[in-house]
Amino acid sequence: MKIAFFGIGLMGAPMAQNLLKAGHSLTVFDLNPALAEPLVANGAATAATPAEAAAGCAAVVSMLPHDGAVRGLYLGENGLLGKLPRGTLVIDCSTVSAECASEVSKAAHALGLGMIDAPVSGGVAGAAAGTLSFLCGGVADDLERARPLLEAMGKNVMHAGGPGAGAVAKICNNMLLAIHMIGTCEALQLGVDNGLDPKVLSEIMLKSSGRNWSLELYNPYPGVMETAPASREYSGGFQVALMHKDLGLAMQAAQKSQSTTPLGALAKQLYSLQVAQGKAKLDFSSILQLLQHAD
Ligand code: NAD
Repeated sequence: MKIAFFGIGLMGAPMAQNLLKAGHSLTVFDLNPALAEPLVANGAATAATPAEAAAGCAAVVSMLPHDGAVRGLYLGENGLLGKLPRGTLVIDCSTVSAECASEVSKAAHALGLGMIDAPVSGGVAGAAAGTLSFLCGGVADDLERARPLLEAMGKNVMHAGGPGAGAVAKICNNMLLAIHMIGTCEALQLGVDNGLDPKVLSEIMLKSSGRNWSLELYNPYPGVMETAPASREYSGGFQVALMHKDLGLAMQAAQKSQSTTPLGALAKQLYSLQVAQGKAKLDFSSILQLLQHAD
C-alpha cells in the first residue's frame, strides 16, 4: 500500500521502518527533514509539504508529540484532511487527548475519510521490534482496514470503542504505569535504606504479591536489570516529559468526568518535580532519584 508517514521521531522512525520491511511504499514527512535519511536509505521517499507527502496515498499514519501538532497537521483551512481524497484512511498513533482524537475523527468522517485513533504501548524497544500494542478507537470498518498496517508495526491490535476510546485507554494505562512505577521505586528504596540488596528484594517481590510490570520488565534500581534504562543512567527509554504529558491528559479527562484519581494526581505532581529538577529527558523510572537521600 502507498502510505504517508508523519512524525519520524524516536517512535515514528522504527514504526516506519517496519512498514517498509512489510513491503509498503512510504513517503515520510517530519519538521526535521534530517530524520528521513535512514528511511530514505531503505527506500522511503520524502516530500516538501504534508499534502505532497500524502498525494496518491491510500493511508496516512501519524506519530506526533501532542494535541497541537495533531490538530496543526490535520485540521483548519490548510489542514491535511481537506486535501485527502474520499476513502483515504487516517491512523493517528500519537498520544493525545480524547477530545483531540474525537475532533479529528469527526472532521475526517465528515469528509468521507476513514479514521482511527491508535495510540501505542510498548515504547521505543517495542516500536523497533514490531511488538507494539495498539489501543484503538473508531468504527469497526476503519479498524479492519487499518489492521494489516498495524500488524506490520505491532503484535496486539485492540479495539477500545468508538472514536477517542483509544486515547482514553492509553491515558488510563499510563496513569497506572506511573503509579506502579512510583510504588516500585518507593518499596525498593525503603528496602535499600534498611539494608537490603535491591536485587534480592526485587527477586522476593517478584515471587510475592508486590509483583508488577515495572518490577518484572523495567526495574528502576540501577544495576538490578541490565537491559533496563536504570542501568544506563536512565537514557533511551520513555522520557519523564512524556509521562508528565500523559498524566496531564489523564488529569484533564478526570476533571471532565469528575473521576476521583488521587494517586494519579500525586503521580503528576511527582513527575512535575522531576521535570523542574531538569530531568525531563531522563527515562520515567528515574523518579527513584526523588526518593533517594541526597548523600
Ligand atoms: P519525538 O519527539 O521523538 O518525535 C516526534 C516527531 O514529530 C519529531 O521528530 C517532530 O519533529 C515531529 N513533528 C512534530 N510536529 C510535526 C508536524 N506537524 N509534522 C511532521 N512532523 C512533526 O517523540 P516520540 O517519542 O516519537 O513520541 C511520539 C508520540 O508517541 C508522542 O505522542 C508520545 O507520547 C507517544 N509515545 C511515545 C513513547 C516513547 O517511548 N517514546 C511510547 C508510547 C507513546
